[in-house]
Amino acid sequence: MGNAYYEVTRADGIKIKAGYGVAATCEQEGCDEKIDRGLGCLCGATPGGDEHGCGGYYCGHHLYMSLDEQVGDLCGECVAAYRRKHPIDAT
Ligand SMILES: [Zn+2]
Ligand SMILES: [Zn+2]
Repeated sequence: MGNAYYEVTRADGIKIKAGYGVAATCEQEGCDEKIDRGLGCLCGATPGGDEHGCGGYYCGHHLYMSLDEQVGDLCGECVAAYRRKHPIDAT
């Protein structure tokens, strides 16, 4: 078993196959980078989406560090929204 393969229901109600055993392509428009649906490619910390992440899967070029372990890495859109709510403390 493990996390190689499982099903998640995304925020839009669509069930998708996920896990690092599932081959996929980056969901960023215009990007066809080969990725897998493991947590390492996930936007947010919870498969299917959570408070900060949309649950999409992106390549390393299109995932950005939120700098918060609880939040995980985020796609461009989600990290922009997250930064608006949580500006980086410049001190
Ligand atoms: Zn996202
Ligand atoms: Zn990409």
